[in-house]
Amino acid sequence: MDFAYSARTENLRGQVRGFLDQHIVPRLGQWQREVAAGAFPVSFMEDLKALARSEGLWNLFLPSLGADEPGQGLSNLEYAPLAEIMGRVSWASEVFNCNAPDTGNMELLHMFASDEQRERWLNPLLNGEIRSAFAMTEPDVASSDASNIQTLIRREGGEYVINGRKWFITNASHPECAFLIVMGKTDPDGEPRRQQSMVIVPFDTPGVELVRNIPVMHHLAPEGHSELIFRDVRVPVGNLLGAEGDGFMMAQARLGPGRVHHCMRAIGMAELALELMVERALERKTFGRYLHQHGSVSEWIARSRMEIEQARLLVLKTAWMIDNVGAKGARKEIAMIKAVVPSMLNGVVDRAMQVFGAMGLTPDTPLADLWISSRCLRIADGPDEVHLRSIARLEIAEGQERRGSGSDYLTPPEVLRAR
Ligand SMILES: Cc1cc2nc3c(=O)[nH]c(=O)nc-3n(C[C@H](O)[C@H](O)[C@H](O)COP(=O)(O)OP(=O)(O)OC[C@H]3O[C@@H](n4cnc5c(N)ncnc54)[C@H](O)[C@@H]3O)c2cc1C
Repeated sequence: MDFAYSARTENLRGQVRGFLDQHIVPRLGQWQREVAAGAFPVSFMEDLKALARSEGLWNLFLPSLGADEPGQGLSNLEYAPLAEIMGRVSWASEVFNCNAPDTGNMELLHMFASDEQRERWLNPLLNGEIRSAFAMTEPDVASSDASNIQTLIRREGGEYVINGRKWFITNASHPECAFLIVMGKTDPDGEPRRQQSMVIVPFDTPGVELVRNIPVMHHLAPEGHSELIFRDVRVPVGNLLGAEGDGFMMAQARLGPGRVHHCMRAIGMAELALELMVERALERKTFGRYLHQHGSVSEWIARSRMEIEQARLLVLKTAWMIDNVGAKGARKEIAMIKAVVPSMLNGVVDRAMQVFGAMGLTPDTPLADLWISSRCLRIADGPDEVHLRSIARLEIAEGQERRGSGSDYLTPPEVLRAR
């Protein structure tokens, strides 16, 4: 087993890190000031995107890119360490056209779009000319169980008519958000996993109403986690993605690599929090000692390092598995990273805040923002409990299979009887 990154990955890591240090970090303050003044997208975003693209740092996330599409065609394992670097700044991924939820939508369109849909929606997304959103979650039903989704997508002649309410739709308040991929029921009485479909809804379709951008922990993301109403929204049947009833399957297909991306960005955030924790512990003194010389603080530093390393190895293994056995074969690992990494990040950031004392709670460090991100990630893309349920179910199924296999393995009851 080789734990080193490939030469290509190392080279790209150097390039992405260099880009971040040279072009993104110096603009952190300007980004904050412009967004606070209501200027979003910020004035320099398009210039930075053009620069990143000219340096080949574009669409780094999509392994199946065609030769005629812009980007590198990196594997998930090659991209993962780059996502870690991007995670250090909340808006950095967009500079490289690697931001969620556009990445997930590009993956979906890449897999399931018709030629016409590719031309109209995928190509502008791959070129970073438009933004998009994915609308599944609803206020009226427990949406961590996708089969609960109630939005109706009713066929009427050559059109679908959509009625429903969605919320927490990331990117829906982005001024460049041109379309939404909406999940809803085309067959409410069908077999539970075949009731849902996905349709592409241009944002400017009559009946689409942006109700509000919902603050998350009192924090308002400029691109939005927004509430939307769909009132008799009509789109041509050609806007159906995949086939009727494929919604559930496509939602599953969309989530594998996206979870690796989220988790690697979270590891980048945890590294940043640990760096800050160490810096602060090296410069502050209480009771005659530097903070790192107090046992509790040095233990927090050590625990944080161990937890980050464990988490990264698991995420890289998951990326490798997606590359080698596909997202379906890696579903246990995908669930594991989504349960492990946000909690790990939450713990590391919490310790860093404690080391900073009161300052750790203010906007004078990125820690408060990192903490909010970590807390959100424990719910967004499925809450921890749902992933734990999936892991346990797979583990139990494997246990049941072992029991019936008659292998040489000593199953637990046999161990007990042998005693
Ligand atoms: C910042 C952010 C961005 C988001 N972006 C998007 C987006 O772009 N598009 C989109 O469609 N959605 C988005 N979401 C919504 C997110 O995917 C949902 O909030 C999530 O799937 C949970 O659904 P819910 O809020 O309806 O919680 P519910 O389904 O009501 O669940 C509530 C709680 O019940 C518990 N629970 C659920 N199932 C189980 C179980 N099996 N065992 C034990 N406990 C359980 C969990 O603790 C869970 O937190 C976003 C959310 C956030 C916070």
